[in-house]
Amino acid sequence: MNGKVCPICGGDNDCGNVAGKPHGTCWCDREFFPKEIFDKIPSTGSEKTCICQNCIENLKSSIST
Ligand SMILES: [Zn+2]
Repeated sequence: MNGKVCPICGGDNDCGNVAGKPHGTCWCDREFFPKEIFDKIPSTGSEKTCICQNCIENLKSSIST
């Protein structure tokens, strides 16, 4: 199980929490996540894995109506 890999595109999600940086420094702490995004993230068991910034942007543009 690799917490650094985006479950959608398989790329590096650049998660600061996984990298051991102080909490609050990851890009995702400043990003807004519409709840629809979580419906689109594949479930990998009990663990939620961060997706990457590219996929956030793609999902946002596909969600907005
Ligand atoms: Zn991705």
